[in-house]
Amino acid sequence: MVATTIPVDTFDLVIIGGTGDLARRKILPGLFRRMCAGQMPDTARVIGASRTDLDQTAFQEFVREALSEFAGETQCDEGAVDRFLTMLDYVPLDVFGDAGWKALKSKLRPDVIRAVYFSVGPSLFGEIARKLTAHKVTDENSRIVVEKPFGHDLETAQLLNAELRDCFKEDQIYRIDHYLGKETVQNLMAVRFGNALFEPLWNAQHVDHVQITVGETVDVDGRGAYYDKSGAMRDMVQNHIMQLLCLCAMEPPSKYGADAVRDEKLKVIRALEPVSAKDVVRGQYGSDDGVARYTDHAGDPKSKTESFLAMKVNVANWRWAGTPFYIRTGKRLRARMSEIAIIFKDPPHSIFEGQPDRKGNVLIIRLQPDEGITLRVTIKEPGPGGMRLTEVPLDMTFAEALGDQVAFMPDAYERLIMDVIRGDQTLFMRGDEVEAAWAWVDPIIQAWQAAGDTPAQYDPSGSGPEDSLMLLHRDGRRWREIKT
Ligand code: NAP
Repeated sequence: MVATTIPVDTFDLVIIGGTGDLARRKILPGLFRRMCAGQMPDTARVIGASRTDLDQTAFQEFVREALSEFAGETQCDEGAVDRFLTMLDYVPLDVFGDAGWKALKSKLRPDVIRAVYFSVGPSLFGEIARKLTAHKVTDENSRIVVEKPFGHDLETAQLLNAELRDCFKEDQIYRIDHYLGKETVQNLMAVRFGNALFEPLWNAQHVDHVQITVGETVDVDGRGAYYDKSGAMRDMVQNHIMQLLCLCAMEPPSKYGADAVRDEKLKVIRALEPVSAKDVVRGQYGSDDGVARYTDHAGDPKSKTESFLAMKVNVANWRWAGTPFYIRTGKRLRARMSEIAIIFKDPPHSIFEGQPDRKGNVLIIRLQPDEGITLRVTIKEPGPGGMRLTEVPLDMTFAEALGDQVAFMPDAYERLIMDVIRGDQTLFMRGDEVEAAWAWVDPIIQAWQAAGDTPAQYDPSGSGPEDSLMLLHRDGRRWREIKT
């Protein structure tokens, strides 16, 4: 059974930065797949804009190549690519100039949904917002989509928010964090709030601790200079991991709606305790057998930027007091593994004499690979050997359970772009949320900068620096193994 798709209303989507990497890899192939799935109407229009001097035909050829490279195995009829190309147009313009905006406006239709995707570096966001309004390309009903990174710290995020809000209302601004478009991340809300089973146990009384891991095998080669200015905290924790933590820790919203969900997430961020230096472990991947180390990729032998970060985080509210959240993320680790693990408390008393103490149940929500959910439970070991206990996973891999529905599942970008067209902001970050996240992160970064903290080296293909293991060991706990 293939997932049902409800067609969206027709729209005009402008992609500023239409010739860039993100447009080529994600946005344009994503739109193509939505058209093939019957969700994007044939009357929709997509207009690329950037400085490169292309005409409509040249842009269509550019997109044809992008689709052949990045559209993957899309189930589509033979003429689909040509049909998609007829929806495309292009306007050359430099964001800092005044030429081109009138031509862009003339290509847009009145009375259809209008969205502008800022698929460019954040230093251009303010100028684009000003030009769009000055040249009346957008009006009070238009939507804008902005990419991460949203600021480098609280000050730059506030500045960016102020620049956008000078031209657009908050309900017109869609700040993308593509993690929120992932199927499993949304499933976290479905599991928590669509089942009566878990919610009564979802608190400090029953949960011992929570582990959030986003591990990658890739290094930063090719984008080392860029990455070196951000590091794991800014690149991964302030946005993606923060969102996972919020969805995991938040109170049930009164309904699944943009402000109800985002209000609850914001409360979690505001309840995060400051993190002291002893609860933070930073690392840089080293080298094995001639493979370049982090500092080689960064192009700076003295770089103090972290490619690995582990932290113990406390949420200071009634639900979570005393139940820590341990988070870790890193490049060049043993396996690509992203998961949230809810580790429940041990049974209060064992009635099975002579059996090793039982571990508490663990609920694992896997983001990658093999998106799915596992619940570890204790059962009797089969056979006549008396009452011997063992642990087994109750495993639900989406691909197995849902078959074709998963094979043709939209990727995060596809889903989020369609949400923009539908006018649904639930899976987009609100301005105050982004600022609150920076307000929590900034002092942690400032503290290690003030102390001149140097990240510990860790073995490539391991699970991070030794000290990150100690972060849990000293609390009598251990990380779940990083493995595929
Ligand atoms: P990119 O490959 O460098 O593309 C930038 C685009 O902006 C190009 O189309 C460029 O085209 C256009 N541009 C630059 N200056 C311009 C100007 N003054 N006026 C008009 N157009 C201009 O960057 P990208 O990788 O696509 O990234 C775009 C944004 O998405 C960034 O904020 C990035 O952090 C974010 N992002 C990207 C990815 C990804 O997978 N690539 C993933 C997550 C987030 P011309 O040179 O023709 O003007």
